[in-house]
Amino acid sequence: MKSILWKILWIIGTIIACALWFLLVGFIGFGINVAINMTTQPAEPSLNTNLWVTVICIGWIVLVILSVIMWKRWNLKCQACKCWGALTLEKTELAKQEKISVLMEMEHRDWQGNVTGHHDQYIPGKRKTYLYTYKCKRCGNLENRTQTRDNPSI
Ligand SMILES: [Zn+2]
Repeated sequence: MKSILWKILWIIGTIIACALWFLLVGFIGFGINVAINMTTQPAEPSLNTNLWVTVICIGWIVLVILSVIMWKRWNLKCQACKCWGALTLEKTELAKQEKISVLMEMEHRDWQGNVTGHHDQYIPGKRKTYLYTYKCKRCGNLENRTQTRDNPSI
């Protein structure tokens, strides 16, 4: 749950950065337009609207790409030397496999195949726990992370 929260915060941060970029470019564009209008004679249509839209769009793309790269680097941060993006995946192993019941929503259909309702049913499944071992490129620190996945058997 914690990592989902961080992800949401990260996305909100990216959106705020994009909004700030929009405001910044908007202010600069407005300022330049005012300056042009003061020096040239009035009623000349502002020809650089397309330019500003392009600048804003390129800025957004760059911000989103940067944000994704930083997110990945942050996820691979070494806890020992605090270096971002230093961890590399050494090995993946299946640490544990348990039999579980997975709650599934089953659909009721009439003879035409239309959905008429739902009911919940427990289906046998497997819970697999994967163990990922990461190694730091800088200091050689080993870090373990686990991930569990629930899969129904059918
Ligand atoms: Zn390290």
